[in-house]
Amino acid sequence: MKTKYVNTKAEMTAFADLQQGETFRTRLTCGCKQNQNRRNGILVVLGEQVTWKLIRCKACTAAIEDTDYVYRLY
Ligand SMILES: [Zn+2]
Repeated sequence: MKTKYVNTKAEMTAFADLQQGETFRTRLTCGCKQNQNRRNGILVVLGEQVTWKLIRCKACTAAIEDTDYVYRLY
């Protein structure tokens, strides 16, 4: 499963539409450290596997470009 952060709901929908399989809109936990880190998200499911976890969070989208932050997350 791969995780992708996006800025807007439209961006998230556009990306999900390009993927194979079924898409499920849900609430997902983003990488932000504060309590309000429940975000709009989409799970892309192909067969029995979740292939993509899409999460809408502006802070995480910006932070993911900072390599140091990525290392702290994973
Ligand atoms: Zn976040």
